[in-house]
Amino acid sequence: MFNALVVEKDEDSGKTSAAVKQIGLDDLPEAEVTVAVEYSTVNYKDGLCIGPGGGLVRKYPHVPGIDFAGTVEESSDARYTPGDKVVLTGWRVGEAHWGGYSQKARVKADWLVPLPEGLSTRQAMAVGTAGFTAMLAVMALEDHGLVPGHGPVLVTGAAGGVGSVATAILAHLGHEVAAVTGRPETEEYLRGLGATKIVAREEINETVKRPLEAETWTGCVDAVGGAMLARVLGQMKYGASVSAVGLAGGAALPATVVPFLLRGVNLLGIDSVMQPYANRLRAWERVAKDLPMDKLEAMVHSATLGDLPGLGRDILKGQVKGRVVVDVN
Ligand code: NDP
Repeated sequence: MFNALVVEKDEDSGKTSAAVKQIGLDDLPEAEVTVAVEYSTVNYKDGLCIGPGGGLVRKYPHVPGIDFAGTVEESSDARYTPGDKVVLTGWRVGEAHWGGYSQKARVKADWLVPLPEGLSTRQAMAVGTAGFTAMLAVMALEDHGLVPGHGPVLVTGAAGGVGSVATAILAHLGHEVAAVTGRPETEEYLRGLGATKIVAREEINETVKRPLEAETWTGCVDAVGGAMLARVLGQMKYGASVSAVGLAGGAALPATVVPFLLRGVNLLGIDSVMQPYANRLRAWERVAKDLPMDKLEAMVHSATLGDLPGLGRDILKGQVKGRVVVDVN
């Protein structure tokens, strides 16, 4: 028997509740690889799946945790043997499939990647889905022409998980980084990660009044969406790109098409969940190379399985700073 965070749903009230419980190997879903999980983390989606589900969880009881890193214990797939260190993000693990908030997880071999060279399992989860996605967002900007030296790159939701990692990576790559935050108290933290300018959320969170404003940003990693993304589109420099990663501020996009038509602005969609294997490897290699480990450490808070119900509520309220690493043991 081993520990897992189990979410149950009361059929009468429809309410869910999460608690650490003992489960056994027979309780785990059928799949090729059993992993002894070492670390997991807390992403926005985890907040939904620990709590009311947000339409993501298919059936209860459920074990959330959309990402984990650990050691293979058993495998019926030739690509993995016991003792291999592995990482998992995406594929709807922790939503449609039981996830990483457990001392053991059983998953498809296709969903795993080998632990990237140069990272420990703890560091891989300090990066986690949020950091992996931040790297995909930066890579997409680069693939569309972003190079240092042409002006500031904007990061929205900067003190959150995606935003913190994007800030540190962009600064390390030599970009000037402007960090948007609704939490002025995080200024020192964000400057420590390499931000050179702090933009107050209120400054940029208003509904679009003019479709085009001064050409200000040479790229943007956007974790917020909604009115902020709409506004940012009109502030991009000619031909610049925005990586749309998240919807912490809303799913609607109250924008006009004018920035696309008159300034050749590109809106790039970033999905980490179904990302093909080759690009996953490429992103993890870039993380190991371009994310300074001292900056990563500065973002990390440690937690245990028992802390997760509270942390799930906090992340949904935008109150988690940086990255949480969950030691499931
Ligand atoms: P966090 O909660 O850690 O970060 C989100 C940040 O957004 C907050 O810290 C806050 O930053 C800001 N924010 C929160 N609420 C609002 C609001 N109402 N208006 C403006 N800003 C707000 O979450 P993550 O970094 O883990 O995820 C960020 C987003 O990216 C989420 O929507 C998530 O679902 C999405 N995501 C998407 C992925 C993909 O594959 N596309 C993968 C991973 C995440 P501050 O306090 O600095 O203002």
